[in-house]
Amino acid sequence: MTSPAPTVLVFLDPAFENGRIADSSQPQLMATDLGATRGDGVFESLLAVQGRPRKVQAHLNRLSSSAAALDLVLPEQDAWRKAIDTAINEFRDVHPAPTPEEDEVVVKLIVTRGVEGAASPTCWVQASPSPAGSRRQRETGIDVVLLDRGFDTEAGERAPWLLLGAKTLSYAVNMAALRFAHKQGADDAIFTSTDGRVLEGPTSTVLLAHLETVDDGEGSVKTIRRLITPQHDSGILPGTSQGALFAAAKAAGWELGYGPLVPQDLFDADAVWLISSIRLIAPVNHINGKEIGTPSIRKQLTAELNELFAGIE
Ligand code: PLP
Repeated sequence: MTSPAPTVLVFLDPAFENGRIADSSQPQLMATDLGATRGDGVFESLLAVQGRPRKVQAHLNRLSSSAAALDLVLPEQDAWRKAIDTAINEFRDVHPAPTPEEDEVVVKLIVTRGVEGAASPTCWVQASPSPAGSRRQRETGIDVVLLDRGFDTEAGERAPWLLLGAKTLSYAVNMAALRFAHKQGADDAIFTSTDGRVLEGPTSTVLLAHLETVDDGEGSVKTIRRLITPQHDSGILPGTSQGALFAAAKAAGWELGYGPLVPQDLFDADAVWLISSIRLIAPVNHINGKEIGTPSIRKQLTAELNELFAGIE
């Protein structure tokens, strides 16, 4: 039997100002917790690099809006911030990274409804090592298949109980889509809607880039860089990575666009990426077996976006 990956748990507990560290080798949750029995809860995943958690406010904001969609009342954001710091510090004390480049900690904020009738949700922070696979995908890129998500782009607004824009603990469908993609020899998937739009990956946001060379009218040419993502109101999770990268790209002179996108837009792009807080920016080499753009432009644009993204707090 392989030993489990090292994990630190810190429960939000009013009796402990900075959170209560719990033994991750011991049971901590009731077997009747509705998070376990029904996936009834919400979560966030963020990355801490060299001890500094990235985009904490954006993750806390999205945790709040996910919780509101499930009528869950959360502890104050300050309690989360303290528990996050405790978890990261404890993890890095107990499992120091061999090199600064490998000093990445995955931090999950987890909320369950608790047992039936509980007065308040159960909330904790989990710190664990960043998976080697997600670091590898940033460098080698990924192959992706398009998978039907079975909803149209208006389902989120028409049927809010589907919780399409919330990050709930019910990720069984997303994980099944990933396994389906793996069985087809791909690394990941991009969901499409029943009305033919590009949505998101099971754990990521889709981005594409278009380069356009224009004559400035004075004898020289310039390249316009355009970064595009599916529109947020299509029943997808608004990505904190996409939001932060768009802000940085805009400041660096990129033009920005928001869908609607169809699969042909991906095939016509100069580059496509799946982007998320843990994996960061993974260039897409092939979609359904077709190469996207060219390796040299993909590499150059990925390097540019990586540099912009690395500067984000
Ligand atoms: N879409 C889905 C369904 C996700 O699960 C995630 C992240 O886990 C994302 C998008 C990307 O979000 P973020 O950039 O905030 O990690």
